[in-house]
Amino acid sequence: MQAKINFNAGPAALPPEVLHEAAKAVNKYKKTGFSILELSHRGPEFAEILEESKHLVKKLCKLDDSYEVLWLHGGGRQQFFMVPMNFLPQEGAAGYIESGHWAEEARQYAAFYGDAQTLASSKKSNYTRLPDWPAKIPAKLAYVHITTNNTIYGTQLGQIPEVKPPLIADMSSDIFSRQHDYSKYALFYAAAQKNLGIAGVALAVVRKDMLKRIVREMPPMLSYAAQVKEESNLNTANVFGIYVSLLMLRWIDARGIPAIEKENKLKAKLVYDAIDSSKVFVPYVTEKADRSMMNVCFTAKTPEAEKRLLTLCEEHDIAGIKGHRLAGGFRVSLYNAISTEWVEQLVTLIKSIT
Ligand SMILES: *Cc1c(COP(=O)(O)O)cnc(C)c1O
Repeated sequence: MQAKINFNAGPAALPPEVLHEAAKAVNKYKKTGFSILELSHRGPEFAEILEESKHLVKKLCKLDDSYEVLWLHGGGRQQFFMVPMNFLPQEGAAGYIESGHWAEEARQYAAFYGDAQTLASSKKSNYTRLPDWPAKIPAKLAYVHITTNNTIYGTQLGQIPEVKPPLIADMSSDIFSRQHDYSKYALFYAAAQKNLGIAGVALAVVRKDMLKRIVREMPPMLSYAAQVKEESNLNTANVFGIYVSLLMLRWIDARGIPAIEKENKLKAKLVYDAIDSSKVFVPYVTEKADRSMMNVCFTAKTPEAEKRLLTLCEEHDIAGIKGHRLAGGFRVSLYNAISTEWVEQLVTLIKSIT
């Protein structure tokens, strides 16, 4: 049976090689004689997995030892509240650039801990464009939080301006998708299930000096400092989830981020060109500079055209193109694991509807 083509936004498709390796490990992990699902989080095999994964993250991000790499529980949303819990003083303020639903939710979570200010927002435009970058960002903010890719409406930040306060980024849906200067961040994080593995694990990379800025007492599970001290193994780590992320990191490293970026640009161009030249489909994001390479969102002008594309996709074993429940229409997610061949097959269907 032919595998279904999967354009889901997350959990998203994984490369066949990664799935194959993961399945092998579920069966039997290396010389242990048993499954990776049964592997101790305190044993030497998992220590190796952790070590190599941390090394690869730093290598791919071109970061030195002034950064710590963490694998944490709780997905993207746990970072929404871990960040302010650690760094936003009760009497202090942090700034949020609201470029989408996730960015807005991150600010709402931060408001439990201190003053979480909206520095700029494109909510009035339904997040279908990027907000104008604020003219002035107060230097005294505890941090500035950005979301590099808006997964739901399909915008993506390009060049990220310098800011005085520590810069923190949610990169859940575009980490390792393009060449990027990661050294501008005091902290960045990504839920793994989009570009980096499976649900249940999040990557967080924190600059060491930030650990001295932690503003309150909290249970160690939620403290970046405690997690660094225990090397992401404070409680039972998500052994299998971290292993799948390691397989993804190896896969990304083998291809190289410049090559991945090139292919991602091509895939996105194929879909945008098809939508832009279509008489029946309309892109959400009309400002080309604001468009996401990862999530292409569009609607149909008529219910007939919408139904036609859904039916055609079903007939061709293509899944996952329905838009987010907040946005409606269509969303095609083009993460690293998505091949150009898959995209070409979808584009043929889009072009066939006139
Ligand atoms: C998916 C997503 C999240 C939420 O991740 P969960 O692991 O479901 O909490 C957060 N931020 C961005 C940008 C996302 O795309």
